[in-house]
Amino acid sequence: MKGVGPKKADVLRSEAKIRTYHDLLDYFPYKYVDRSKIYLIRDLKPDMEYIQVQGQIIQVEDQSYKRGGHVKAKLKDETGIVELIWFRGAKWIKKSLQIGKTYLIYGKPTVFNQRFSFSHPEMTVKGDPKAPALKGLQPMYPTSEKMKKFQLDSNGMKKLTQNLLMELGNGIPENLSEEIITDLKLLDRKTAYRNIHWPVDEKLLSRAKARLKFEEFFFKQMEVLLQKEQSRQRIKGHVFQDVGERFYDYYQNYIPFELTGAQKRVIKEIRKDCAAGQQMNRLLQGDVGSGKTLVAFLCALLAIDNGYQCALMAPTEILANQHFESLSEEGDKIGVNVQLLTGSTKKKDREKLFEDLANGQVHLLIGTHALIEDPVVFGNLGLVIIDEQHRFGVAQRAKLWRKNDIPPHVLVMTATPIPRTLAMTLYGDLDVSIIDELPPGRKPIKTLHRFDASRAELVHFLRAEIKKGRQVYIVYPLIEESEKLDFKNLMEGYEFILAAFPRPEYQVSIVHGKQKAKDKDFEMKRFAEGTTQIMVATTVIEVGVNVPNASVMVIESAEKFGLAQLHQLRGRVGRGAEQSYCILMTKNKLTPVAKKRMKTMVDSNDGFKIAEVDMELRGPGDIKGTQQSGIMNFKIADLVADQNILRFARQKAIEIVEEDPFLRKPENLVLKTHLQANKDSRINWSRIS
Ligand code: ADP
Ligand code: MG
Repeated sequence: MKGVGPKKADVLRSEAKIRTYHDLLDYFPYKYVDRSKIYLIRDLKPDMEYIQVQGQIIQVEDQSYKRGGHVKAKLKDETGIVELIWFRGAKWIKKSLQIGKTYLIYGKPTVFNQRFSFSHPEMTVKGDPKAPALKGLQPMYPTSEKMKKFQLDSNGMKKLTQNLLMELGNGIPENLSEEIITDLKLLDRKTAYRNIHWPVDEKLLSRAKARLKFEEFFFKQMEVLLQKEQSRQRIKGHVFQDVGERFYDYYQNYIPFELTGAQKRVIKEIRKDCAAGQQMNRLLQGDVGSGKTLVAFLCALLAIDNGYQCALMAPTEILANQHFESLSEEGDKIGVNVQLLTGSTKKKDREKLFEDLANGQVHLLIGTHALIEDPVVFGNLGLVIIDEQHRFGVAQRAKLWRKNDIPPHVLVMTATPIPRTLAMTLYGDLDVSIIDELPPGRKPIKTLHRFDASRAELVHFLRAEIKKGRQVYIVYPLIEESEKLDFKNLMEGYEFILAAFPRPEYQVSIVHGKQKAKDKDFEMKRFAEGTTQIMVATTVIEVGVNVPNASVMVIESAEKFGLAQLHQLRGRVGRGAEQSYCILMTKNKLTPVAKKRMKTMVDSNDGFKIAEVDMELRGPGDIKGTQQSGIMNFKIADLVADQNILRFARQKAIEIVEEDPFLRKPENLVLKTHLQANKDSRINWSRIS
């Protein structure tokens, strides 16, 4: 390309990952500056971006001889005065500024001493023929220090993209069909690229953005949907034909309450899926306490009634035990054989268990990931349910596929809601069921934010709750990078609690990651039985544990937790009939983001809403498990800001894939060509859960 020698090419490659014309076309400006508009000083506002004003220099003041010195000047138009300030290059500035001359200046106004000031503005003398012609919207490109050294600053990048556009001319082929373009009134591709780099006006710029964002979302959706469709046709699944005896027996005789509408709907979705002859891959999202366990059990009965075995996998031994205790009791009522397999299962018991698994005597096996280890052989595994998915690794999940000739149906349950838009993109090829309704009669948890200074008040409150017969969790952060310090805080906190809640009146349990599993279980048990009233813990208690009498959750150093985790922890209370509380303890000085997190927790109990805010605060790239996927690397589209466009793109993609799953129609040829040319080696999401 003209203007790019081997050195520049190297820098472009290493700094901006630009290797081809196409990469350069996709090197989008991060903002635009309107250089057609000149503001009056009177109209300046504190939150303005880069703008232009024009006026006369009326004073120059040199303080450059002092330490930390500077040069200041005053610029005046007919409506007011602004200050210009330079901290570097004083000599040159002083020499070139001419009092009485009219300058056009360009910069970002900030307020200083009740006056607007511009530091290091770009300046041109009015009417200077040597000044670059600056008209309309000017693109600003991201650059690095190294790029700047090679004249690849924003202006340099602008030159390159404009050369490229001239060189390409009409050589930017369309990749959407006529039908889509007219239907959605999109800009054609060539005009869109022209205007993204070289906007004619605001209106065309915004249409150009919309077109390119649409294109990006649309092809990503096409990829996942086509893949899903094709695996549907390829991968067979067990057929759960009937709703049988045990299901009906349990449903009619042993559930002490009415299922919520959401639970019923979700069970229906799963039933339909499991009867269709293809393997089910379903994500079940439901807020903490929404009753996922019961849904899981009913699905297990569905599999069992159809002659299959079911495995239920939990992330921790505590949780596996808890599921086993409650579900084996339920199983006994209707003749379902439920067994437990964890790392602690004794060798002798194991042998018998493996035998019964192989000959089909065991209906439902509950366990930790021990149950997907190689020696475990099922007679006829039909369904695997994974509780709290985010604790499982990809490799572990993949093992499931080798447990039967036809792969079992997979239901992944999670209480960490993923924002709907993210789920669409990330799990576009995974079906999603949502329980968006809590069982009736739950009192919403009251959430309070308190500062460390009100600790005495906190102790007082906790004593009063304990007197009423309630139990309390007190959670400390345990974050890897400062594990030692965190542990020290936990132990100090524990000492403090022991002193504030002395024996024998109060009993305190402690659970943390450095304990042996046996000790952990022992302490959990004492708390669950009500022997101890206070549970001091790290986030090991985050998932799943169910102690309905515990009604207060105190989270220490709450500012160190993310929103998803705070919500998850809060979900440990509010499970019984009593009013529950979540108390967020923080230091006084909080960052704006931490403040927003606390406020969100205090204001909302809705996991989905919290997940949306979480995504806004952290950006989708930070959401667990998505970092390595590369799936969030959109070049221009933004999952948070462009949800509307995403919806259109997804809708269109669904229509097309339903109508023409192999893209054989002539009008879809253009899509097929583009998809094939841009195939990347993504992870195949449909296979990993
Ligand atoms: P989670 O979705 O967090 O796993 P659980 O399955 O542990 O929630 O359910 C929380 C509690 O709600 C349990 O004690 C369960 O028995 C109860 N529960 C589940 N469904 C209903 C319902 N439809 N009506 C009343 N209580 C229910
Ligand atoms: Mg649960």
